[in-house]
Amino acid sequence: MDNLWRDADSKNFEYSDLAMRVYTSRLLGQNDDLVLHGGGNTSVKSTSTNIFGEKEPILYVKGSGWDLKTIEEAGFSPARLAILQRLASLKSMTDTEMTRELKASMTDPGAPSPSVEAILHAIIPFKYVDHTHTDAVVAISNSPNGEQILQEIYGERVLVLPYIMPGFVLARQVYESTIDLKWQTIEGIALLHHGLFTFSDSARTSYDRMIELVSQAEDYLKAADIFSGLATANYKPIASDYLDLARARQSASKNFGAPMLATWMTDRESVGFSCIDSIEKISTRGPVTPDHTLQTKRIPAILEKNPVPGVEQFATDYLDYFTKNNDGTLNCLDPAPRYAVWKGKGLIVFAGNIKRRRVISDIVEHTIKAIQWGEALGGWTTLTESEIFELEYWELEQAKLKLAPASAEYDGRIVVVTGAASGIGKACAEAFASQGAAVVAVDINPDIKNLYSETSVLGIVCDATSDNSIQAAIEEGVAAFGGIDILVSNAGSFPASSTVEEMDSAFLDETMQINFNSHVSFIRACTPYLKLGNDPSVILMSSKNVPAPGPGAGAYSAAKSALTQIGRVAAMELGGYGIRVNMLHPNAVFDTGIWNEEILAKRAENYGMTVDEYKTNNILKTSITSHDVAGLVLTICGDTFAKTTGAQVPIDGGNDRVI
Ligand code: ZN
Repeated sequence: MDNLWRDADSKNFEYSDLAMRVYTSRLLGQNDDLVLHGGGNTSVKSTSTNIFGEKEPILYVKGSGWDLKTIEEAGFSPARLAILQRLASLKSMTDTEMTRELKASMTDPGAPSPSVEAILHAIIPFKYVDHTHTDAVVAISNSPNGEQILQEIYGERVLVLPYIMPGFVLARQVYESTIDLKWQTIEGIALLHHGLFTFSDSARTSYDRMIELVSQAEDYLKAADIFSGLATANYKPIASDYLDLARARQSASKNFGAPMLATWMTDRESVGFSCIDSIEKISTRGPVTPDHTLQTKRIPAILEKNPVPGVEQFATDYLDYFTKNNDGTLNCLDPAPRYAVWKGKGLIVFAGNIKRRRVISDIVEHTIKAIQWGEALGGWTTLTESEIFELEYWELEQAKLKLAPASAEYDGRIVVVTGAASGIGKACAEAFASQGAAVVAVDINPDIKNLYSETSVLGIVCDATSDNSIQAAIEEGVAAFGGIDILVSNAGSFPASSTVEEMDSAFLDETMQINFNSHVSFIRACTPYLKLGNDPSVILMSSKNVPAPGPGAGAYSAAKSALTQIGRVAAMELGGYGIRVNMLHPNAVFDTGIWNEEILAKRAENYGMTVDEYKTNNILKTSITSHDVAGLVLTICGDTFAKTTGAQVPIDGGNDRVI
């Protein structure tokens, strides 16, 4: 494991104990093999001057809701050290009492709440304390002779302690085990099934020791030829897989009580893991460490070729697990799986939103590695079901989940937007993503691939006039997110002016192809997925030219009229599946790819107007932007319009010919 300490960087943090604490905490946070997403915690013992001008010993410990990777000085809770140390001498304390006492020990009530491990940090008699959930050490401890192996690796330098719940009982365990201990003789404490502590009066030494001890565990795995021997395999998806995936998502969403994303992981490691003969047995023993359960649940669902029964079985088993372990005072969490092993085909990650998906997939990536290491060490061995349940339903852990931000309107929903590289399509993709949706953004412009930096938007190059290209784009989008809830069929082009008398057949064909046929192809390709979607909806980007055509735009007006008519028919045909189909008639949206200042000026001049007059040439005297159209699209796909289908809604500032 690389030591990331750099003298040149550390110099910028030498000005205070807390600043140095920030520096090495971030070094730990940067390594996924040490801590994942908010895991682990660190502290420093220092002094601060109180309002009476007296110096007080303070423990600055990681605050709840902060991540070591990005922590700042404000992310540490300042707690009075003497109080925390005294709390450790109590024989017992309830969770409620501990939470209250930790809060009361703070010198600044505005700071974040101290980590539940604050008391443990307080009793370790060194200035700097580092704590991680290192993969290598935890994986070794999850094997039949884990404790022995760790003792063999570390000898007397590390105190190895059996698993106990985090919080006060863990602080008590360490307190009692170290009463007669000469702290100077050890460099760390390994907690089985949990992680590793290192400490020193120097920030650097404490960090160096963490890297050194973890490296020793990794070396042990390497020497046993376990480190790199992970299963890998390839799987080439077949057409029916995508619909099966969407069905699995539908079943998971039903159990979750809200739409979920279902990301299919077909990388070589995921497929390799799903191909292991004994996968059903080894993957359902338990998690790497109990606090992963909050994100991934205790075990994955196991899915056969038809994945739906496996998702349902998981939910049934989860309810049994709850009933069996509930002491009668707890409320059951949702029984939807957070990930699944799809035998021979890879893994599926289920998540309520994009952010959660990232957390779960990162944990899963580390879990499949740790399970195989544990197997190679004699058999993956985790804590018992009831020990894991205790942590999953521990009120302090549940409180952490409640800190997560409130859900956005389109969390867990999946939207396909065509023509998403510019104008109205781009505005729709951005608006949906900002409201929590996962967006499949398709366009013929190759820039679409790199246009969006958010992980919630997947840019796919697609030729809307080719059915094969459309099918491939839809399958790629479904594999990434699990299905389709909304189709915004927007791609189109505004052709050059031509009278009917001058119109040649090729020109007419081409206009119909992009402004009519391609939309029908998208509806056709998306419908099987929309039937499995959450509050499914189709928006067809039509035109003011349908109710109010103009001379010279015959081909365009005819194509948009045909599109509107097929939308009305689709509304009738798909209504029985709960799929709504609505048409928008925008007009004079000038912030799109086809307009620029020069064209606008020329057009305005033709009508004897200024550019501003031309832009606002409507009853409301207002200009219409692509963001206005996107706003309307989101509203129509939302609850307000839940009972409206087959409607044609103008967005044109008011046009007397339309009215
Ligand atoms: Zn921990």
